[in-house]
Amino acid sequence: MTDSNDIQQKVLSYKKQFENSDIETILLFFLNQYRGKIALASSFGAEDQALTHLLWSLDHSIRVFTLDTGRLNQETYDVMQETRIKYNIPIEITFPDSQAVTEMVNKYGPNLFYESVEKRKMCCGVRKVQPLRKKLAELDVWITGLRREQSVTRSDIAVIEYDETHDMIKLNPLAEWTNDQVWAYISANEVPYNKLHDLGYPSIGCACCTRAVLSGQDIRAGYPGRQVVVGGT
Ligand code: SF4
Repeated sequence: MTDSNDIQQKVLSYKKQFENSDIETILLFFLNQYRGKIALASSFGAEDQALTHLLWSLDHSIRVFTLDTGRLNQETYDVMQETRIKYNIPIEITFPDSQAVTEMVNKYGPNLFYESVEKRKMCCGVRKVQPLRKKLAELDVWITGLRREQSVTRSDIAVIEYDETHDMIKLNPLAEWTNDQVWAYISANEVPYNKLHDLGYPSIGCACCTRAVLSGQDIRAGYPGRQVVVGGT
């Protein structure tokens, strides 16, 4: 078993090795080096869709997983299905523990997340944090669609990082991309995208906790539960 120090050392050495490399080179290396133990975490937002296309163009056997919290929009299931068909890849859907959801909802009701920050954290814990942790335990490297310009808390993310929370390697290949670059890539490559974006949703999450934003607002403003968002999915 690799210990935390080894992983951190590897990350430092990868950072140095790929300091001046383009993202295709970096991704190709990691896809080969960690075959079967590397996957994209997708919430079916624009960045994740661009990355699915990019990864698939490098390796048709890429793994893509998603957390189905049980509260997603129909549009998200629609693009999930479209993506499965277009790229002919299985989307690995991870569900929350049914017993934990049952106990939480029976005790606090289906809309507990509107009542307090604590209950929202509890709901995210059951529906997102625990399933994500369980899924990541299968992997050595996970890939996310996080970008620096998405918020101040993401302004210093790197393309290659050590994920302290999950004690593993995390890749953020689009860290330096702008929103315009993401959409230009989607358009140029005819990538299927979530129709919620056409309705003004900048990011995709649970239907009850994500909303459209007005032009000029922080793009994370559409996510009222953002203070407890996990894993960047
Ligand atoms: S985003 Fe909302 S519905 Fe989804 S897991 Fe978090 S609190 Fe629950």
